[in-house]
Amino acid sequence: MKTRAAVLAEHGRPLVVEEIELPDPRPDQVLVQLYASGICHSQLHQIHNPEARHPQLLGHEATGVVLRRGREVRHVHEGDRVMVTWVPRDATPESLPLRPSTYRWRGQEHEAGVYTWAEHLLAHEQLVLPLPKDVPTDVTAIIGCATVTGVGAVIGSAKVQPGQTVAVFGVGGVGINVIAGAKIAGASRIIAVDLLEEKLRFAREFGATDTVNATQGDAVAAVKELTGGGVDFAFDAIGAEVTTHQVVEVVRSGVLGLRRGGTAVIVGISQRPITLSQQLFPMGERHLIGSLGGSSHPIEDFPQYIEWYRQGALPLEKMVTKRYGSLDEINEGVRALERGEIAGRSIMVYAQP
Ligand SMILES: [Zn+2]
Repeated sequence: MKTRAAVLAEHGRPLVVEEIELPDPRPDQVLVQLYASGICHSQLHQIHNPEARHPQLLGHEATGVVLRRGREVRHVHEGDRVMVTWVPRDATPESLPLRPSTYRWRGQEHEAGVYTWAEHLLAHEQLVLPLPKDVPTDVTAIIGCATVTGVGAVIGSAKVQPGQTVAVFGVGGVGINVIAGAKIAGASRIIAVDLLEEKLRFAREFGATDTVNATQGDAVAAVKELTGGGVDFAFDAIGAEVTTHQVVEVVRSGVLGLRRGGTAVIVGISQRPITLSQQLFPMGERHLIGSLGGSSHPIEDFPQYIEWYRQGALPLEKMVTKRYGSLDEINEGVRALERGEIAGRSIMVYAQP
């Protein structure tokens, strides 16, 4: 079938919204008409990376409705509402790596993984999860990346326990989900760190108990002062050299013979190598872990996210602060994100159920 997609055609040029042609679904694929897609920061890295594959289709969090399914697909049916994510929902060693899909653009065939900046998507069945009928199809589009990455980092990767202290460096779309996750986990202090006062104010709406503006002095010292020596968990939602150093330095030291140190959790992905001071880890028994897709198992975790959303613990409506009415506005959405104008997450709404 023919549909429209935003194509990263050339490095350094705006995306082009053009017709692409999708083949019939393979036995392991699902054809989804998309309702809404988030605009995620990690796509900016792909857009700005001169070595990125061209052409490329982008976007990796969405909702939609199943139009057709391959004969091996059992967990969703034609007409079902679904969420689209980039984290395999229930992978087995045999199912990985997921076989890419194909599409034709300007007369040539290309491969694609997941993509949601498009009106239809031919997805591997591992990347499609049922969306219950009682929840809206717009704001739930951000579960597939922002929530799984942010909430998952707290619950799945770090396993924060009630009463523990948390700092979050960078409170954009992922950072506010880290904050919401920390609140759900029962953290006693949740300290938001950012450069923009507006984002810090916004972070309080999701459960930040304290805020630190890193433009006004030493953020690490400020967090240590607030917590009497450092936090149990510090999350780097940015992946910049400065924030990676900050999260490693701001976790509390252990006490020899008594207790181990805190844990720095790297969520954002750096575009270049970062050098860290090695002594911080043995001295004070600090830990450094990475979190990709919140270490999640979507088949179990996504229903839990939906339940937290219903209960108000995961306020997706508040997280989505900007809506674009069509795919044609994608370049405007990308520019607004680049300029730091988006508090929380922006989405494109293509269609209503
Ligand atoms: Zn993302």
